[in-house]
Amino acid sequence: MLSLTIKEASLALREGSISPTELCRKCLNRIKKTQHLNAFITVTDELALRQAQEAETRLLQGSPKGLLDGIPFAVKDNFSTENIKTTCASRMLKDYTPPFNATVVQKLLDQGAVMVGKTNMDEFAMGAGSTDGAFGPVRNPWGYAAPYRENTGLDPDSNWVVTGGSSGGSAASVASLTSYLALGSDTGGSTRNPGSLCGVVSLKPTYGLLSRHGLIPLVNSMDVPGIITRSVGDAALVLDVLQGVDVKDSTTIPAPSSPTQLPEDFDVRNLCVGIPNEYHAPGLSEETVEQWSRVADMFERAGARVEQVSLPHTQYSIVCYHVLCCAEVASNMARFDGLEYGHRSEIDSSTETMYAASRHEGFNDVVRGRILSGSYFLLKQNYEHYFLKAQKVRRLITDDFKHVFNSGVDVLLTPTTLADAARYSDFTQEDNRTRSLQDDVFTQSVNMAGLPAVSVPTALSRRGLPIGLQLIAPALQDKRLLSVAQWIEQRVGFPSISEFEQRSEASDQWQKTKKEHTI
Ligand code: GLN
Repeated sequence: MLSLTIKEASLALREGSISPTELCRKCLNRIKKTQHLNAFITVTDELALRQAQEAETRLLQGSPKGLLDGIPFAVKDNFSTENIKTTCASRMLKDYTPPFNATVVQKLLDQGAVMVGKTNMDEFAMGAGSTDGAFGPVRNPWGYAAPYRENTGLDPDSNWVVTGGSSGGSAASVASLTSYLALGSDTGGSTRNPGSLCGVVSLKPTYGLLSRHGLIPLVNSMDVPGIITRSVGDAALVLDVLQGVDVKDSTTIPAPSSPTQLPEDFDVRNLCVGIPNEYHAPGLSEETVEQWSRVADMFERAGARVEQVSLPHTQYSIVCYHVLCCAEVASNMARFDGLEYGHRSEIDSSTETMYAASRHEGFNDVVRGRILSGSYFLLKQNYEHYFLKAQKVRRLITDDFKHVFNSGVDVLLTPTTLADAARYSDFTQEDNRTRSLQDDVFTQSVNMAGLPAVSVPTALSRRGLPIGLQLIAPALQDKRLLSVAQWIEQRVGFPSISEFEQRSEASDQWQKTKKEHTI
């Protein structure tokens, strides 16, 4: 039951083969069973059961609110949730309880969806590993699944792999079947990166299509709520629920009209798929390249045009993102001073001392580092050299995409991350921050240009860990993007983690599944 898609579960609920309370209990039990993943900061079990009970009443009366009625979902802990702690995985906000729901959370609740909890992340969404939060790192469920255990012969408890980040808890939750959908946030890749490493579908919608109201900001000009599901069709369904103008977020734009259902038999014969030359980046693993060419070949064989294209300013994207991100972080984080918001230090001999001590105690060194860098970039004498120049480079990066899409390319096909998930011990041994910066090389320019992109799982690596590919489309073509993604999904047949779970009972079966899906 838990490995169904939203559509299938919704049907089961309507047919009465399972009730919303039973389904909710199953998810809550599974959250308990998978506690070692550290995917949740807060489990909202009482609230979830109450909401499930209400859904049950509606379903029994034959008047469900929508397709999501009774469907369990999880929320990254940087979305405000009414009367539920919203910590951003930071000591600064460890006791913060917002008085309102973020618009996207409210929209899911309005559809009758059942919130099971708030998920773990990198502090204030800064990171690419989900290793940098105040509540400890998140573990990737695939690091415990049979293919990885078999292929590496390693003890999963001491050799677990990271989820990627910063929405690692949300991706781990959907991958480990504790929720059917989870909200992430994506500023430079934070939804797509963990989605790819955890083997789930992860959508970064066009900037402005989903309201940011109630999403605690990282980089306002790039932040978007992200959607994590187990199927592309589910992502499309959730996008329909969440998109559209919100009076509480002036950057929102009207949703383009498009059919809710993605076409089952999308025709790729008139499609032009671009392969950016510059995305053959240093550090890209051989297996990821294999997947990339395999899927490009699939398009070609099916009659699509596959073309090499150039996005020449990609080489500046990491530095450019870094300057802009830190600049916005420096101003966004100013509100957390221990008075208006957040942790207040006991060292308070003067107001200035109290501010400094509260911020020192409340933020981790990643956040403090970015505030310092951002303040430096914004100094009067540096502003033009760093901030203004980065804005100009951002325009060039955006123009690269425009140029390619205007030349007839419909979608770009790229890797999502450089390689499959790293072992925690390796990830933290290397210079974690440099690694997390490099890991965003395929995702960050998309945020700077405001475009929609999705990561789809395509195969398991030789170690038995998921590899995802990314598709990027012109602004507001989110549905078309998903149609192409679904085309890939239908052809690669990526397995659910549940296929590897009953190891002793279904040994032959999982050996077969492993053979089919491992490179
Ligand atoms: N890894 C990037 C960063 O640390 C992206 C973060 C995000 O998308 N929230 O800034």
